[in-house]
Amino acid sequence: MTVRRDSAQAELGVIGGSGLYALLDEVTEVRVDTPYGPPSDALFLGEAAGRRIAFLPRHGRGHGLPPHRINYRANLWALHSLGVRQVFGPCAVGGLRPAYGPGTLVVPDQFVDRTSGRAQTYYDGLPLPDGTVPEVVHVSMADPYCPTGRQAALDAARAAAWEPVDGGTLVVIEGPRFSTRAESRWFTANGWSVVGMTGHPEAVLARELGLCYTSLALVTDLDAGVESGEGVTHAEVLEVFARNVDRLRTVLFKALEALPADRDCPCSHALDGLTTGLPGVPGH
Ligand SMILES: [Zn+2]
Repeated sequence: MTVRRDSAQAELGVIGGSGLYALLDEVTEVRVDTPYGPPSDALFLGEAAGRRIAFLPRHGRGHGLPPHRINYRANLWALHSLGVRQVFGPCAVGGLRPAYGPGTLVVPDQFVDRTSGRAQTYYDGLPLPDGTVPEVVHVSMADPYCPTGRQAALDAARAAAWEPVDGGTLVVIEGPRFSTRAESRWFTANGWSVVGMTGHPEAVLARELGLCYTSLALVTDLDAGVESGEGVTHAEVLEVFARNVDRLRTVLFKALEALPADRDCPCSHALDGLTTGLPGVPGH
């Protein structure tokens, strides 16, 4: 497919999760191929608040992709290749504390990876289809989320009278099954806040490309170790998400609007001094 470069550019990206399959009203649909294969769907480019935004439904527009089969590398690469440098990653999560009931918005500042078998790096030393061989690079992940993006999300939520939880740990499980009660109680005992299935390796891959990444975790249910009923169903997750999707959109637009055109956050310097060997990526 021919991509018209004039319209096929964006500066800000949103990767929508369960229940958020569209963001902008007027969009140009752009198919992007990547060295890692196709992303989850076409990218939907449009404008909001005077900014060029690319939206990508993480699970595909029909929710055909479960979390463990999402091509995270292709998704982040596709956004980067269109010019996106700052990304919001809203996602549906389970609450690990009774206080974090359905409808709670958490802007985490840490994550814990409990996934397995996912392609989680661009820097595996394996050649790309064009023969390019990326370097072996170790990026810092001490603070996985963009401080500027986090602040924008927190401010936007407060402006919408939706008091967010500022900080906390998102534990990312492999899925697609939900947690057992024992797993869930263990997560809680470790002091973690919410549990989801897609935050890793999304945040890592963003960092590896020098992108800003901010997670907005919408609690759709109390996780198995906290609630005492039958356990969560996917239908319940979608129902709660649907009830909150309008205000989540409002928060996203406001947060996008607040992002600076010129970045001065640590994420923008994540690749300083490194040789990546990846085409189009700083340090190449
Ligand atoms: Zn940043």
